[in-house]
Amino acid sequence: MNNEALLMALIESSNDAIISKTLDSIITSWNPAAEKIFGYTSQEAVGRSITMLIPPEMQDEEVHIISQIKSGVSIPHYETVRVRKDGTRIWVAITVSPIRDASGQITGASKIARDITALIESERTNTIHTAIVNSSDDAIISKTLDGTITSWNPGAQRIFGYSPDEAIGKHITLLIPDERLSEEDTIISKIKNGQRVEHFETIRRAKAGDEIHVSITVSPVKDKKGEIIGASKIARNISEQIALQKQLKEYTRMLEVSNSHKDQFISMASHELKTPITSIMASLQFLNRKLDGADSGNKKLTEKAVAGITKLNKLVGDMLDIAKIETGNLQFNFSTFSLNELLHEVIDNIGLTNTKHQIFYDDSLVDAHITADRLRLEQVFINLITNAIKYSPEADKIVVNSYAADGKTVVSVQDFGMGIPAEHHNKLFSRFYRIEEQSQNISGLGIGLFITKQIIVGHNGNIWLQSELGKGSTFYVSF
Ligand code: ADP
Repeated sequence: MNNEALLMALIESSNDAIISKTLDSIITSWNPAAEKIFGYTSQEAVGRSITMLIPPEMQDEEVHIISQIKSGVSIPHYETVRVRKDGTRIWVAITVSPIRDASGQITGASKIARDITALIESERTNTIHTAIVNSSDDAIISKTLDGTITSWNPGAQRIFGYSPDEAIGKHITLLIPDERLSEEDTIISKIKNGQRVEHFETIRRAKAGDEIHVSITVSPVKDKKGEIIGASKIARNISEQIALQKQLKEYTRMLEVSNSHKDQFISMASHELKTPITSIMASLQFLNRKLDGADSGNKKLTEKAVAGITKLNKLVGDMLDIAKIETGNLQFNFSTFSLNELLHEVIDNIGLTNTKHQIFYDDSLVDAHITADRLRLEQVFINLITNAIKYSPEADKIVVNSYAADGKTVVSVQDFGMGIPAEHHNKLFSRFYRIEEQSQNISGLGIGLFITKQIIVGHNGNIWLQSELGKGSTFYVSF
């Protein structure tokens, strides 16, 4: 093979694009690698301007190249961007040299271009990966299968205190407390099987000797052939989180203790209050009756005192009930009695002190004899009817009904007052819940309905309501 044939063969088989062009940038030869790299066949390329490969914003490059070539200077290896036939852009490393004729005259240029897109991209990805590893708050460490540390990021230094120089080359057990050494064997045997170890919470030891709570994820590292050659480990410092959890537990415990103290105190105080209140109430009621028909000034005073002490008595009773509910000590004494009688009694009693509202009760629908705790049910109806009165200050009637439905006895208490927005319906029965915007000028603690519900639940019953804002509410209990 002569020299020329040898050269031709080299050009044909090269992996780099080898192109020649005139000093006017017209392509004069185009090897198979050029076709592979840029997408044009030799027929398509030869005769056209090389500028078709240069992105529009970089056309100046060609002017510069040609002027260099004309002055006999080669352009060694530079990296730039070119456009393929399909419009995609690629990174190329280019070398351009002048071509001379037999007389030494420069007649054109030869250009060798290598596609370095994959290289540039992997460099970029590497740069990004390095930046991520370096800026991570987590420790990112790699090690060989026998446990030798091979890389150590700044996060690892922050968490464990060792610099890369102090850690790389050492065995990973540097970080593992003695009593946890067996963990490493488990981790490595999983890694050897190609498995990941995920979010494993444990304790590691820092350079200063302090123990650090970490959450660890370990993944196998494979070489190009897919063989497992080591492990990468990400460790997050969760010491603060753990300390916070501990503190929270401690607070909850303290709160429980103080809550039970509070319940005990309320229960004790209410008990102590109950006795004198009962005796004051009895005396006042006695005095009040004695003053029937007597001087109206004194009578008014005793009536006021009776009303006040009755309120106080109810409040103390409610506080005792809450304490009982909290400690699971709300007990019931069941007996069988007439529901109608009980309702009449309650309505009559309320009528004595509330003259504005008339309370209607139609007892013709059902005459149930029910088995329940009579005193507790009395409390339920007092709560519902006094609420109906309290929250309908502009109205003058309350309607009570009782009827049978689905084998149960239902009692309803209807008022024609302010009504209750739907979003509060479920919450009304929780402890201390009041509808602030509606109850501001009406005294109360938000415990009546809570106790009411607990009593009904204790009777295997139900309580619910229907209400229209501005029109009124109906509370239902069934048991
Ligand atoms: P209190 O009346 O002491 O605030 P309750 O537990 O009996 O406590 O009632 C809780 C809340 O439910 C009241 O504050 C009031 O906002 C609302 N409520 C109860 N009954 C009625 C009713 N019949 N009409 C309108 N709102 C009511």
